[in-house]
Amino acid sequence: MKVGFTTSFPVEVVFAAGHTPIDLNNIFILNQPLKYVQAAEAAGFPRNTCAWIKGLYETILQNEIDTVVGIVQGDCSNTHSLMSLLKDKKIEVISFSFPYEKTPAALQREINKLQDYFGVNDKQVLEVKKELDQIRKKLIELDRLTYTTRQVNGGENHLWLVSSSDFNSDPVKFSKELDLFLAEAKERKPYDNKINLAFIGVPPIITDIYDYFPTQDADVTFNEVQRQFSMPYLKNSLLEQYLAFTYPYSVYDRINDIKPALKERKLDGIISYSQAFCHRQIDNILLKKYLKIPFLAVEGDQPSNLDERTKVRLESFLDVIRFSRN
Ligand code: SF4
Repeated sequence: MKVGFTTSFPVEVVFAAGHTPIDLNNIFILNQPLKYVQAAEAAGFPRNTCAWIKGLYETILQNEIDTVVGIVQGDCSNTHSLMSLLKDKKIEVISFSFPYEKTPAALQREINKLQDYFGVNDKQVLEVKKELDQIRKKLIELDRLTYTTRQVNGGENHLWLVSSSDFNSDPVKFSKELDLFLAEAKERKPYDNKINLAFIGVPPIITDIYDYFPTQDADVTFNEVQRQFSMPYLKNSLLEQYLAFTYPYSVYDRINDIKPALKERKLDGIISYSQAFCHRQIDNILLKKYLKIPFLAVEGDQPSNLDERTKVRLESFLDVIRFSRN
């Protein structure tokens, strides 16, 4: 069974049941994102709705997804309406919530519900978690090569970490490809870009944004949410792992994760990316208040390359960082 999902959730359960989990976001952005958005608008989605939700809808219709796990709490309220539309199309939908109160008991209830639906027990799920953790260890190494020797660039870091939400639906293949990539990266000359940036917020819909930074003698050495998708804490249980996952909880969890990275990775500035029409833009107020380094909010709307206006804003921001050092 092809099981699509709308954001990272306990994917171990789906693997344990012998099904194929598919992160719908990755399929959307790597296919024909603009065409999918336009098709959803033609079907009646409002123009002033986030492009991701439109893209997910069309991705599900075009890719013969059997069941969709909609993360209805902790991610996006648009998912509620998306699920209603999918039901109308006779697509099986189930919900998963990251509880707002973030208590172990409440999250355990959600995990139990998911395991019951897929007919798997704790032991089976934990076995899968242990296997996936071996890959996650390699991703921690990849991340380390990004901010220490910089043998892995920001765009590569983004792609590998964002893909770990479903391990490209095939963990064995993913792991082998990751081994080859790491071996090749370790042969590269250590590099020292002049400006190190944090990229925080949801993965960007701007398809070439990571290519831009190296042209300015800068690069991203901390991808906040992508790193979260890679579950880097290697906790003992599924429950602990998904309690440590900051993305679906409050902005304060995110701030507590980002703060130590600023120091450890010697970051010079933050690019806070948000999507047009997304509630997460509001979080910038507190992120800017508590993360006391140069901060630039960038917004994307339709899937596209970097526009000239954003390029000028990024260029000016990087100039400010250079100037403030002299
Ligand atoms: S970017 Fe924001 S509005 Fe769009 S799907 Fe994600 S959470 Fe929802």
